[in-house]
Amino acid sequence: MRFAEEGGLKFRTERGVFYNPQMELCRDLCSLAVGAIEAEGLSALDAMCATGVRGIRYLKENGNVKEVVLADRSKKAILCARKNAALNGCGRACKAMRADACELLRETEFDFVELDPFGSPVPFLCDAVRCFERKKRGWLSITATDTAVLCGAERDACIRNYGAVPLNNEFCHENAVRILAGKAILASAPSSLAAIPIFSLSRRHYVKIIFEMKKGAADAVKTAKSIGFVSYCRNCCWRRFARVALEGGCPHCASRIEWGGPLYLGKLWDERLLGRMAKLNAARNYRLKKEIEKVLSLMLAESGVGAQGYYDLHEIAKRRKVPVSSIDEALAKLRQSGFCASRTHFCPTAVRTDAPHETVLEVLG
Ligand SMILES: [Zn+2]
Repeated sequence: MRFAEEGGLKFRTERGVFYNPQMELCRDLCSLAVGAIEAEGLSALDAMCATGVRGIRYLKENGNVKEVVLADRSKKAILCARKNAALNGCGRACKAMRADACELLRETEFDFVELDPFGSPVPFLCDAVRCFERKKRGWLSITATDTAVLCGAERDACIRNYGAVPLNNEFCHENAVRILAGKAILASAPSSLAAIPIFSLSRRHYVKIIFEMKKGAADAVKTAKSIGFVSYCRNCCWRRFARVALEGGCPHCASRIEWGGPLYLGKLWDERLLGRMAKLNAARNYRLKKEIEKVLSLMLAESGVGAQGYYDLHEIAKRRKVPVSSIDEALAKLRQSGFCASRTHFCPTAVRTDAPHETVLEVLG
């Protein structure tokens, strides 16, 4: 038995109960997102809780969470989670139970559902959606660690699991988020639920999205209509996100076009939520406070630009056989040309801009 510390709380970790210290940043950001939700008395479910660290943090760090259920199929995990709940003085606000996530989701209602499985969350999506069917409003938080599938290294698995063709290109991590979001939106719409992404995060080995689940047929139709395709030219990096895919030749260089999708075309963040998260972070003493501050300000900046798909300066330089531009110079030039431009949390060497493709090539190439 060992102890780990996160968010100022102490947790037992035990052999045979999964605990990944590399997910601390993700747990920090998600706990901030929970705290930034403007609703009181939330009931939360950590459906694959393992040590219980995530659910306990949501409860202990946020005044708007009234109670949390920690569930896991493993007896060992539940015993560990129970000890952690006691260790942190959760009292009756926290219940740890041995249960199958899908069965629990079908039987019980929660305001906030956390799905943090190994691999893909797809097998749990339908039951998670059912959990919100009778509610006006709720929140669904999902992690996917099958990024190789979503990013296009395993094309057939993506088609099978997500019903989407992946696109393995310079902005494949954004495509991954958009394919996962699209899948959740289309799984929710038949229940007259609009799954609206309010927070999206991509790190090397995982993708995380938090959705606000809003009841209403009209909203469900609106989000379902935000699904489309990305068309891409591997020769000149031309791209277009639209309701329909373009086939044939690239409008810029006439090379053959590739496409990916269906995927979500809309906004990946609620900027007001990001702002509230940044405020909360400033008031908390997380170990990764500085990094969180940086990630949140990147997200806020790129969300403000709004355009889908970023340009990787290394990729452009390679394709056009020119030296790599400095990222600050590239941003300054794009802004001088009258366009919005920012860095992106998806990739440290890329820019997001609303400038037309020709302008981007002029400035960066
Ligand atoms: Zn082209």
